[in-house]
Amino acid sequence: MLPVERVERIRQILLTKKNVKISELSSRLNVSEMTVHRDIKPLIEDGFVIKTFGGVSLATSTKVEHHESNNCIYCHRPILEKTAYKLILKNQRTETACCAHCGLLRHEQLGEEVAQAICYDFLRQTTISVSLAYFVMDTSLNIGCCQPQVLSFEWEEHANQFVKGFGGTVYPFQDAVVVLQEKMKHSNNSCHT
Ligand SMILES: [Zn+2]
Ligand SMILES: [Zn+2]
Repeated sequence: MLPVERVERIRQILLTKKNVKISELSSRLNVSEMTVHRDIKPLIEDGFVIKTFGGVSLATSTKVEHHESNNCIYCHRPILEKTAYKLILKNQRTETACCAHCGLLRHEQLGEEVAQAICYDFLRQTTISVSLAYFVMDTSLNIGCCQPQVLSFEWEEHANQFVKGFGGTVYPFQDAVVVLQEKMKHSNNSCHT
């Protein structure tokens, strides 16, 4: 499991359990307690959790809402987990965009500040590293999020197959950003049509 996935798991566990012991997280995630401490550091800094004796608990709900916005960092649309695009910054903070459209644009804005970015494979819902993903634009299938629409795929082969059925063009990460920005210039910079 990637460190970011573990942090996400811890976040989920805390949302259901409210408080949890470090030793429990360590055994549930199958990593050392030291690793757990490292993983929860950004959550503490974010104000998402507070340290308790031997564990962590969820910070008060008002605080959580403030820090854990469920809206897109770029266009403020509500985020749906299956199209989300997450940016993990070098200062350990995370930002989430509603879809690859906003994710790529925000990613470009942040540039060097981004330590890692992950999105989901459109077909299989697996977590993928953005830099290895393939992006499909101009397809006839409309997911109802931001325009010009961008879908992400783990495998180039799947992206190509998808395009055969629904039309569109496949781009690797580096090209996707450039093409998207070019398209935005022609659409008056509005994500919503
Ligand atoms: Zn958005
Ligand atoms: Zn969107």
